[in-house]
Amino acid sequence: MGVKDNIFEALRKELPGVKRNVLLKYHTTFKIGGPANYFFIAKERELLLKGIRLAKQYKLPVFVMGGGSNLLVSDKGFSGLVIKIQFTKWDLAQDDIIVSEAGVMMKDLVSASVKQGLAGLEWAGGLPGTLGGAIRGNAGAFGGEIKDSVVEVLALDNKLTLKKLSNKQCKFSYRSSIFKEKNWMVLFAKLQGKKGDKKNLAAIASSHINYRKEKHPLEYPNAGSVFKNVDVKKLSPKVQMLFLDKVKKDPFPIVPSAWLIIGAGLTGKKIGRAQISQKHSNYIVNLGGATAKEVLALIDFAKKTIKKKYGVVLEQEIQYLNNN
Ligand SMILES: Cc1cc2nc3c(=O)[nH]c(=O)nc-3n(C[C@H](O)[C@H](O)[C@H](O)COP(=O)(O)OP(=O)(O)OC[C@H]3O[C@@H](n4cnc5c(N)ncnc54)[C@H](O)[C@@H]3O)c2cc1C
Repeated sequence: MGVKDNIFEALRKELPGVKRNVLLKYHTTFKIGGPANYFFIAKERELLLKGIRLAKQYKLPVFVMGGGSNLLVSDKGFSGLVIKIQFTKWDLAQDDIIVSEAGVMMKDLVSASVKQGLAGLEWAGGLPGTLGGAIRGNAGAFGGEIKDSVVEVLALDNKLTLKKLSNKQCKFSYRSSIFKEKNWMVLFAKLQGKKGDKKNLAAIASSHINYRKEKHPLEYPNAGSVFKNVDVKKLSPKVQMLFLDKVKKDPFPIVPSAWLIIGAGLTGKKIGRAQISQKHSNYIVNLGGATAKEVLALIDFAKKTIKKKYGVVLEQEIQYLNNN
């Protein structure tokens, strides 16, 4: 038996269901990504902890994921242990409080809060991924952000110490938080809503779902917006003038990156089987069999073209996972 077999045997004893050489393309919405040496679905918080401890013990790099909806995984995969969080208990603590584990899908929390007549999460209608992923990246859409509902988060720091953080301590900002800055794990959160009209809330959430279906290229695998939108202040006065009628307040005055991409004539640009979507220019779609290398080449091409044309460097919203 080789070293890898020994490690696998040891992991198997402690992590029921751990697998070897699992293609991550089956666990990402982009449907791209090579194998993880070891792959484990943690259905309980304790198993996540155990997994991270074992990885440390065997000096294995570890990566924790949720719904895989914000990830571009290298074609070479991940050398180490990937843990997919799937602890999914949630409950109503009081009339206006939902307590939820990190692995609950946002769509389930949206429908639970709508059913309870609790306003605050309707903006997330159609948002893929888990609560933990949303908190880490302070996910947002249609003028709302997860930070507006978070009261408290229970997290795990890099020394595996449990930490309870108030909303302020989470240091939420545009698509970021303390969890992203420090690479802490979100385990559990308390969310607060406001009393609202069930029918009205359901209509708002459905309108967002329908808007996404109509405007976003959901018919192809993708990982959502590739680039963050651009703070108007980062654009030169001349470029600001060009996009004056495109400025949106979401959550502060921004020019959607899609408009810069359209302006630069990049819509529909293809490299291999990856394409800048014809339907929404801030999406890259996998036309079937696209590789991470092709997506990265397209991202690089778009960044260079936009920099040359508009003098601004686009920042990536999707995360690239690569340790090989
Ligand atoms: C069609 C489509 C539409 C989208 N629309 C939007 C949108 O409108 N707004 C928006 O903000 N995003 C959007 N996204 C991006 C994505 O859905 C969000 O970023 C989502 O919050 C990611 O959650 P996830 O569970 O899938 O995270 P993953 O993709 O699994 O992971 C993303 C990052 O979060 C980390 N992570 C995951 N779980 C945890 C946890 N429990 N604790 C700490 N870190 C964790 C991972 O390590 C990784 O670094 C969209 C994506 C798609 C495919």
